[in-house]
Amino acid sequence: MTRSARTWDISMPITEAMPVYPGDPPPAFTTSFSGGVTLTVAHLSLHAGTHVDAPLHVIPDAADVGAFPWMHLCGPACVVQARQATVDAEQVQRWPLRTRDRVLVRAAQEGCVFTPDGARALLERDILLLGVEGFGPDQDGDPALPVHRLLLSRSVPLLENLCLREVLPGRYHLTCLGLSLPGREAAWVRAVLSC
Ligand SMILES: [Zn+2]
Repeated sequence: MTRSARTWDISMPITEAMPVYPGDPPPAFTTSFSGGVTLTVAHLSLHAGTHVDAPLHVIPDAADVGAFPWMHLCGPACVVQARQATVDAEQVQRWPLRTRDRVLVRAAQEGCVFTPDGARALLERDILLLGVEGFGPDQDGDPALPVHRLLLSRSVPLLENLCLREVLPGRYHLTCLGLSLPGREAAWVRAVLSC
């Protein structure tokens, strides 16, 4: 029997022109050509492009990405559509989530951030992972990062800077693996959906 899967790469290409979090350095690459060899040195934040945040990002001494169980990022996932730029508990309760889902949220036209109540509603659904299209699920520039803290303190990792424009809401399988970066608070990932 032949089984053909449709796949979508939902990772952001890493370029010097990519959008970065306000105040973060833009990615920089220095490429040299010598002796017939091309060599590039990269300088960029671990939060540039599609990446996963580990609890250490906002909680001192919490788990880093090296300690993170990577298989939590791979498995059944639900892609949902944010109806408003600010997602509250009422909106989360309407999403057709299953227990231990990986939840990937397509942004509304104006973006997508969560209220603390929206984050608590996700925790009540016992999700394994939250993925968003923008820089993160908190308001840009809010140093309190309440949604980061609520989810990461319960060991729910965050996937940020996803590209979900080509993907319709529905059920998928998420394959998402990152670089091994022991001791760090985040890691770049390649994320792919299939169904
Ligand atoms: Zn991040």
